Amino acid sequence: MRRPLVAGNWKMHGTRQSVEDLLLGLNGQEWPEAVELAVAPPALYLQQCGEALQGSPIRLAAQNCAWQAEPGALTGEVSPSQLRDAGCEFVLVGHSERRTLFGETDAVICRKFAAALACGLRPILCVGETREQMEAGQTADVVGRQLQAVLEVFGVGGLAQGVVAYEPVWAIGTGLTATPEQAQDVHSMIRGRLALLDSDQAGCVQIIYGGSVKADNAVDLFGMPDIDGGLVGGASLNAEEFGAIARAA
Ligand code: PEP
Repeated sequence: MRRPLVAGNWKMHGTRQSVEDLLLGLNGQEWPEAVELAVAPPALYLQQCGEALQGSPIRLAAQNCAWQAEPGALTGEVSPSQLRDAGCEFVLVGHSERRTLFGETDAVICRKFAAALACGLRPILCVGETREQMEAGQTADVVGRQLQAVLEVFGVGGLAQGVVAYEPVWAIGTGLTATPEQAQDVHSMIRGRLALLDSDQAGCVQIIYGGSVKADNAVDLFGMPDIDGGLVGGASLNAEEFGAIARAA
């Protein structure tokens, strides 16, 4: 019913040369047909990636977008319509690095979600709790609040036009991965909340997991019933490892 999605977030890594090498590696991989695939390079390299990935099943994703759909006077920003023009299908919104390092609030993230949808992009809404919040037993509250901001405006049907990425902040780039059971608990809690609002649509929402996903933990994570693939940071910078993760989904 739900197609798995594996998306690589290259963050602020790469040069034209290293991106070319990575693309060569990606184009040398066998990709599973049943899995949706995407990579999110730095905006500067979207065009290079789009050209090299023509004919590949790997779709383009952006790491961020402006909160306004159309181009305008927003120095330094990239509008969702421009991302669409550059060939993007997905855009990350609310990545924890945007929330913590750039002060993005739930309200701002909701505007970005709206602008992305308005341009035909599929927003990947990132949610997740910090280590302190997890230790204080606040995971459900924090994730629930982050989701609620978008649900209030778009409902479950709107959310289903995008993707939810559960990314515990304590697991991002730390080498600490949530156990498959820990991640499944949160994914199932999310789906349960969505089902209370709209039981038909809740089963359609792709909920992917992110946080130190690697080739050697992907099979167990993706084997969980509510984990519909992964958002992969560091490991997506290695074409062979990204390929192995995709084949695990
Ligand atoms: C991310 O950046 O979204 C991420 C999950 O990173 P990593 O896989 O490196 O933890």
